[in-house]
Amino acid sequence: MKYDYLIVGSGLFGATFAHLAHKAGKRCLVIDKRPHTGGNIYCEHKHGIHVHKYGAHIFHTSDRDVWDFVTSLVPFNRFTNSPVALYGGKLYNLPFNMNTFYQMWGVTTPAEAAAKIEEQKQEAVAAMAAAGVTTPRNLEEQALTLVGRDIYETLIKGYTEKQWGRPCTELPAFIIRRLPVRLVYDNNYFNDTYQGIPIGGYNKITEALLAGIECRTGVDFFEQGRAYWETQAAKIVFTGCIDEFYGYRFGKLQYRTVRFEEEVHPVPNWQGCAVVNYTERDIPWTRIIEHKHFESFGADVEANPTTIISKEFSTEWTEGSEPFYPVNDTANTALAEQYRALAALEPNIIFGGRLAEYKYYDMAPVIAGVLRHPEIAALSPTHA
Ligand code: UDP
Repeated sequence: MKYDYLIVGSGLFGATFAHLAHKAGKRCLVIDKRPHTGGNIYCEHKHGIHVHKYGAHIFHTSDRDVWDFVTSLVPFNRFTNSPVALYGGKLYNLPFNMNTFYQMWGVTTPAEAAAKIEEQKQEAVAAMAAAGVTTPRNLEEQALTLVGRDIYETLIKGYTEKQWGRPCTELPAFIIRRLPVRLVYDNNYFNDTYQGIPIGGYNKITEALLAGIECRTGVDFFEQGRAYWETQAAKIVFTGCIDEFYGYRFGKLQYRTVRFEEEVHPVPNWQGCAVVNYTERDIPWTRIIEHKHFESFGADVEANPTTIISKEFSTEWTEGSEPFYPVNDTANTALAEQYRALAALEPNIIFGGRLAEYKYYDMAPVIAGVLRHPEIAALSPTHA
């Protein structure tokens, strides 16, 4: 056997696994069907700007082990995500905080904002009670009982239905619980202790993770198939789509994908921040990313006379497009369970990451999942 591990996919799960296994003296081969490594954190360098080719990535975590690990690979800058939402020609701060409540209702104190939310919340609770419901059954009910009808209709409904292509009444409540609600003037999108973008771009992380490891790009695992690769490595770490791995035998899992329309503009500053969400249903894109704001601040923004923006259009995944988000409805969740049950029976295959676990992961939990993976723990009790 030539390798201890064949790692299929060089995204964060695969690259982190390869890094730690290699460090523990294991022979690793990483393959990726794309022409580059890094999975969805891969950036293209154009006009002096790192363009997040597969969608914006903002690193945030409260997990000290994860933060220590990533910052040991590359230093991070002080980027703080503070997106704004545009609705009906008006801007609102996100996540939902005192600035948003002021913009929505003209309230200036936490007590006034709390009273306004409570009033609208009670309407939602009463409507649910009339239907015999006590806990929110779906995203709409969750949003209405969290922030009330005004915010739901202005900032949540249109955006969510564009992003997921399904009515809010058919989506799980947990998706909206990702967003904080605060009675303070704080536009930081995340509650986490640590946040930033790697200085020099995300490819620096991938380079640091894969240094010294054999990587072959443009190689599709399924071309030669499982039986061939099992002759090459004692174990396989698979980070692709779990349903594809099993030949779609129970049926296809659904994913959401994003189509990006990139525009280069001959101005130093196009929208004034990295992320603007378009929460109106009738505007076809969900958000616009202006990439330079992830890595340049203050006067530096003006130093580059050019900027690049990406409009994001969220659509259902079809063969040949990139699967980005697992669809968390009941049918897909049940189907994923069937595949997971098969995966659990494999002693020599490790499934990890968003696609193989069919889970809506951020970057930090993916890394945490590798750092604390029993396979890694068994290689070296003190991995870091
Ligand atoms: N969301 C929303 N309005 C916004 C931004 C987000 O309603 O302006 C909702 C939407 O349902 C989305 C969820 O919040 O799916 C989570 O958003 P997040 O920004 O965490 O999604 P990401 O793009 O990071 O996957």
